[in-house]
Amino acid sequence: MALDADTLKQLLDTIRRFVDERLIPLEAEVDRNDEVPAAIVQQMRELGLFGLTIPEDYGGLGLTMSEEVQVAFELGRTTPAFRSVIGTNVGIGSQGLIMDGTDGQKRRYLPKLASGEIIGSFALTEPGAGSDAASIRTSARRDGNHYVINGSKRYITNAHVAGLFTVFARTDPHSTGASGVSAFLDPADAQGLSLGIPERKMGQKGAQVCDVMFDECRVPADALVGENEGIGFKTAMKTLDRGRIHIAAVSVAVAERLIRMALDYAMEREQFGKPIAEFQLIQAMLADSKAEAYAARCMVEETARRRDAGEDVSTEASCCKYFCTEMVGRVADRAVQIHGGAGYIADYGVERFYRDVRLFRIYEGTSQIQQLIIARNMIRAARK
Ligand SMILES: Cc1cc2nc3c(=O)[nH]c(=O)nc-3n(C[C@H](O)[C@H](O)[C@H](O)COP(=O)(O)OP(=O)(O)OC[C@H]3O[C@@H](n4cnc5c(N)ncnc54)[C@H](O)[C@@H]3O)c2cc1C
Repeated sequence: MALDADTLKQLLDTIRRFVDERLIPLEAEVDRNDEVPAAIVQQMRELGLFGLTIPEDYGGLGLTMSEEVQVAFELGRTTPAFRSVIGTNVGIGSQGLIMDGTDGQKRRYLPKLASGEIIGSFALTEPGAGSDAASIRTSARRDGNHYVINGSKRYITNAHVAGLFTVFARTDPHSTGASGVSAFLDPADAQGLSLGIPERKMGQKGAQVCDVMFDECRVPADALVGENEGIGFKTAMKTLDRGRIHIAAVSVAVAERLIRMALDYAMEREQFGKPIAEFQLIQAMLADSKAEAYAARCMVEETARRRDAGEDVSTEASCCKYFCTEMVGRVADRAVQIHGGAGYIADYGVERFYRDVRLFRIYEGTSQIQQLIIARNMIRAARK
């Protein structure tokens, strides 16, 4: 449900202050310690950030897509690891349940996800199945009133703190593609579920990923998302569709922050007797970044608006993820260049963002996969 204008403004103002006063000052520390302080996570709970997209009936704010991207524009102005704390509950860790879960499943888990009492993780990727997600081999065998899950999942965000996993597994052992896949709600304390050690990553320090292993992991039959087997792959794709617009919005916010940092530096740093901002080659980098970030912001807002209006925005969501995540990579590269040697030195923070944004082009569908989705949809539409 859409918030009234005053409530939305109040929410955005509160998040803006939280980002400026609490999160931005901690960026270097989070990068150094590879951890978001517990006090910050608690404040995020108190601000209701874990429940941004969870329906009001289940204790969340039930933001529309347009409202969600406005929040992402604010939260995205700081190191992406902070957003990652709430990112799975707001996105991939709750949306499958919201879209396709039963009432009972929603009542059981959504209030806890909305309050941040538990963290939700999304476990699709496997060692042998990344972009080709329909080829997953994790299996779920029906055994009386239970399913028994076997397999392993790779690079699962927030797995180390998760209370609930949405796990994708093959219920039809004879199938090889999307149709034999089902989704399950698997509590972290289920017998037979174990975690790998957190991976060392290029950037986004403070956000953790690790493997999740299932060894004869028994879950009750009602852990199946929805009531039918075989719809899990569709659940995963719908979840990722929404997430793509969100990641695109975060990319816009990081780009705008980097442009501000680059502009400030260019106006202050002097070479050849004047601020480097007066050199036209520097101006070209600033202008290219500004124009691309503006185009990205507009496409995200437009796609969100059309999704809220009930349109199928699969193509546009992929356009947003593709363009915005590639755009912020270019902007980060130019920001480093404008800072010269300082851009390569940790104290200035630009190199940290340069590392952080690299991930946006890889997870929740790589740039190449977005290109394939866009082209496939174009061809399908032309054949109609
Ligand atoms: C930090 C991090 C967090 C993550 N969090 C999660 C999570 O919470 N849950 C989850 O399930 N997964 C998660 N992932 C996994 C992520 O979604 C995958 O890494 C991603 O989808 C790519 O899969 P892959 O790594 O197997 O690469 P691959 O699929 O092996 O791709 C390798 C390269 O080949 C290209 N490629 C593949 N197929 C094609 C094709 N048909 N045409 C052209 N090019 C192609 C890709 O674009 C890429 O450039 C995370 C990954 C990372 C690094």
